[in-house]
Amino acid sequence: MFKSVLIANRGEIACRVMRTARSLGLRTIAVHSSADRNALHVRSADEAYEIGPAPAAQSYLRAERILDVAKRTGAACIHPGYGFLSENAEFAEACAAAGIIFVGPSPSAIRAMGLKDEAKALMRRAGVPVVPGYDGAEQNMEFLRAEAVRIGFPVLIKAVAGGGGKGMRRVERAEDFAEALAGAQREAQNAFGNSRVLIEKYILAPRHIEMQVFGDSFGNAVHLFERDCSLQRRHQKVIEEAPAPGMTQEMRAAMGAAAVAAAKAVNYTGAGTVEFIVDGSQGLRPDGFWFMEMNTRLQVEHPVTEAITGLDLVELQFRVAAGEALPFTQEDLSINGHAVEARLYAEDPSNGFLPSTGPIAALYLAQPGGIRVDAGVDEKGEVTPFYDPMIAKVIALGDTREDALTMLHHALAASYVAGPRTNRDFLTRLIGSFGFMHGDFDTGYIDEHIEQLAPSRDGVDERAVALGAVALLNERRRDLLEAPLYARGGVYYRDPWDAGDAFQLSGPRALDIAVDVDGARKTVRIEWRKDEMCGVFGGARESADWEMEWTSRDRALNAYVKDGAAYVLHRGEQTIVRLHDPAHGAGAHAGESDGVIRSPMHGKVVALFVAEGERVHRGQRLAIVEAMKMEHVLAAPSDGVVIGISAAAGQQVAQGAKLMMVE
Ligand code: ADP
Ligand code: ADP
Ligand code: MG
Repeated sequence: MFKSVLIANRGEIACRVMRTARSLGLRTIAVHSSADRNALHVRSADEAYEIGPAPAAQSYLRAERILDVAKRTGAACIHPGYGFLSENAEFAEACAAAGIIFVGPSPSAIRAMGLKDEAKALMRRAGVPVVPGYDGAEQNMEFLRAEAVRIGFPVLIKAVAGGGGKGMRRVERAEDFAEALAGAQREAQNAFGNSRVLIEKYILAPRHIEMQVFGDSFGNAVHLFERDCSLQRRHQKVIEEAPAPGMTQEMRAAMGAAAVAAAKAVNYTGAGTVEFIVDGSQGLRPDGFWFMEMNTRLQVEHPVTEAITGLDLVELQFRVAAGEALPFTQEDLSINGHAVEARLYAEDPSNGFLPSTGPIAALYLAQPGGIRVDAGVDEKGEVTPFYDPMIAKVIALGDTREDALTMLHHALAASYVAGPRTNRDFLTRLIGSFGFMHGDFDTGYIDEHIEQLAPSRDGVDERAVALGAVALLNERRRDLLEAPLYARGGVYYRDPWDAGDAFQLSGPRALDIAVDVDGARKTVRIEWRKDEMCGVFGGARESADWEMEWTSRDRALNAYVKDGAAYVLHRGEQTIVRLHDPAHGAGAHAGESDGVIRSPMHGKVVALFVAEGERVHRGQRLAIVEAMKMEHVLAAPSDGVVIGISAAAGQQVAQGAKLMMVE
C-alpha cells in the first residue's frame, strides 16, 4: 500500500478520501486555494499547501502547481476526488510522467469516455444500447434542426464535453430549436471551452439509473449494482438511492452486463459509473435502458453503494491503484438493505435555488444510528461563492426503503444550519412527498411539484424579527459590559449607538431601533423589564435567555449572532436581522423598484443584451449572470431606458454589484 496521498480536491470529498487514507495508514497531503485556508479539508489533513487564489482555474485546476507540491512532499499517489481534475487525461498523464500514481483509470480510458459523442460511438460498437440521436461532427444550425425533426420532438441538446447538467437544453418544437441551441453552445463554451453538441431523443418518463463498476489491472471487471438518481433539478441529482425502486433481477442483470461490457471496452481500472437513461413509462423493462455517459471517477453518490454492499470504494480505489487485484468476483457481491442519500446545499429554494454563501453561524448535522454524514464544512467554516455550495451528504441505511426514508427524514429534520440558507426543508418535503414515497417518480418529479416542495416565503416572520433584534442588542450589551460603557438599571447609558440616527430614545425603558430584515428596513420596539429585554414587532413579543444561545422562551426559535447579524431559525426557516446601517440600505437587493439592476450573486456576466441608451420594456432580458452551475436572467423591472452600464460580458461581479440602471 502507498505511504502517502495528495488529495487534489476540497470540500466533503477531500475529507471523505482522507478518512479512508488515514485508516490505511497513509500520510494525507491537502492542497488549497487562498479562500480555503481555514477550510475543513485543510484542517483535517496531516499537511496542507496553498496553490493559488480562490477561482478554481487558478488553484484546484492548476495541474503543474499540484504536481509541484506532490513532488516536494514525496506523495506516492494523487487522489483527484470528483470534478476538478478527476477526468482530465492530461493530468493523469502528467502524474505518470512524474512517477506519481494517479488514483483513477488510465488516460486512454478517460479520453475514450471524455466526450459524449465519442463515448456513444464506442459503446455502439461494443453492443451497448445508446440513446437514439445525432452525434456526428456537423454543427450547422439548420442541419442540427433537421436532425431534431428526424429524431422527433422532444429532443435534448447536449454539450459533448458536458458535465454537471451544463450545456443541456430540452426542446419541444422546431421553432424553439435555434435559441435553445445558442444557449447550450454558449453555456458549453463557457464551462468547457468546447461548444460542440449532440442531439438526443428525449426519453419520456425518464429515470436515471446508473451502475457502479470497478475494474483492476488484471482484466477483471464487476458491477456493484445500481443507483437510482432520478430525483433531479436542472439535470442535477438531489437524492440518490440503491437499489432502484421497482428493479427486477432480469433488468439488473441486463444493465450490469451492459455496464461491465462498457468498462471492458476501455480496459477500465478503478471506480467508474455507467449512466443509463431508462424509460419508466411502463415499469422497468430489460430492453428499456440506454447508455448516456460514463463518469470515469468516484461519484458524489458512491456512499449509497457502500452502504448496501458494505464495501469502502475509496479503499478499493487505493488497492487497485497500488496494483492489487479486486478482492472479489461478481458472485461474491450482494445487496443488503436500502440506502438513500440527500445532498444538503447552501441554496435558497424559495428564491430560485440561488446559492446562498457566507460564514456558517451555526451547524448541527444529526447522526443517529444508521445515518452517515459526509460533510465539507463545519461550524467554523464558510460557504464561499467560488465552489459548489454543498454542505454535506446525509445517507441513511435501513432494512427497507421505507425505513431508510423515515431515518433520513428524521435526521434532516433534526439538523440545522444558520448563516447560509439551505435546502433542508425542500429535502424533507421531497422525502415525505407521496409520489417519491411510493416509488412513483421520474426525472420530472421535482419540477412538477416545485410549488409544494419549494413554496415562496410568505411575508415577514414577526417573531423572528423581534427575537433577532433582542439577540443583536444583547450581543451589543455584552460588548458594552466589557467596555467602559455601561447599561445602568437596564437602561443604556451613553450607548454609542444612540448617537447614530438608527436609534431613537422614547422614554427611559423603551427604544425603537431600525433593523434590516432580509434586506428590508423595519422598526422594532425594545422594552426593558427588570433584567429582561423584550422585542416587540407587529403582533410578536419575544425575550430571550441570553446567557448561552438566543432561544425564545418556548424554544421554538433560535437566534445565532455572527458578524453583526442575527440568523433566526424558526421551524427551519431563517430570517436574517441586522441593525440598520444607512450605508448598506435595502436597495442592495434585487427586486427593488429603484431601477438599479444588481447582480443577485457572485458570478460572471455571461451575456449583456442591451446597450447604453436602449429603450426596454418591462420583463425584457437585460443580462445573464452565471454562478456555479446556474444561469440567472436579469429582466427589466419596468419600461424605461438603460443607462450607466457598468459591467461587461465576461466580467466577474460581486453579489449586489450594480450592473446598470433602467430609468
Ligand atoms: P455526479 O454525477 O457525480 O453528480 P456530475 O457529472 O453532475 O457528477 O458533476 C461532476 C462533479 O463535478 C459534481 O459532483 C459537481 O459537484 C462537480 N461540478 C460540476 N460542475 C461544477 C462546477 N461548475 N463547479 C464546481 N463543481 C462542479
Ligand atoms: P451530465 O454529463 O451533465 O451529467 P448526462 O448526459 O449524464 O449529463 O445527463 C444529465 C441528466 O439529464 C440525466 O441524469 C437525465 O436526467 C437527463 N437526460 C440526459 N439524457 C436524456 C435523454 N435522452 N432523455 C431524457 N433525459 C435525459
Ligand atoms: Mg451525468
